[in-house]
Amino acid sequence: MSTDRIERILNTFDIMFPDARCELNYTTKYELLIATMLSAQTTDASVNRLTSKLFKKYTSIDDFANVPLSELMQDIHTIGLYKHKAKNIKSMAQILVTQYHGEVPCNREALEALPGVGRKTTNVVLSEGFKVPALAVDTHVERIAKRLKLAYQKDSVSKVEEKLCRKIPKERWIKTHHQMIFFGRYHCKAINPNCKDCLLTDLCREEKRKKYLTN
Ligand code: SF4
Repeated sequence: MSTDRIERILNTFDIMFPDARCELNYTTKYELLIATMLSAQTTDASVNRLTSKLFKKYTSIDDFANVPLSELMQDIHTIGLYKHKAKNIKSMAQILVTQYHGEVPCNREALEALPGVGRKTTNVVLSEGFKVPALAVDTHVERIAKRLKLAYQKDSVSKVEEKLCRKIPKERWIKTHHQMIFFGRYHCKAINPNCKDCLLTDLCREEKRKKYLTN
């Protein structure tokens, strides 16, 4: 992968989405962590609709630690996997209260050891909450990386993360993560990507495949 190619992709992201940012609403680090946990297999928009009420009712991490599980389940039942997410959020909150003085740890190992917190959530919290360079690979980032040949189709999520971190300068990881999500959410969608108006057509695996199929 040539540096020119990476620069071209990053410059295009800068042109298209100069202000890409986290679209989950939160005001504290624990809210960011909970919003990210809630967002698994759910859109940010539906998480924001839920948390606009949830974070008014639960105003501290202690509230999440102390609420009866059935009540928390009821409060988040509008989103997918709510039973599972409620259990993890309550257990996570109890650990933060008992082991971390109610604070979210700025530490990869500690974050990944929390219930329901995997590598992607950890990367989001580290990069968004603490500005520690990290590149979370969600469904958009994975799709874009593969379409733009920054990774192979067969690569696992962890392999995609490893390749992106190797190819993209570390100081660009946080910004590029947001830009890839915007690129995937608003331009290069999973179904019906906007190839007609794309500035990266010549670098794209998908576009070549389509041309092959139509010729
Ligand atoms: Fe996405 Fe189409 Fe552009 Fe490829 S050409 S990056 S599939 S929008």
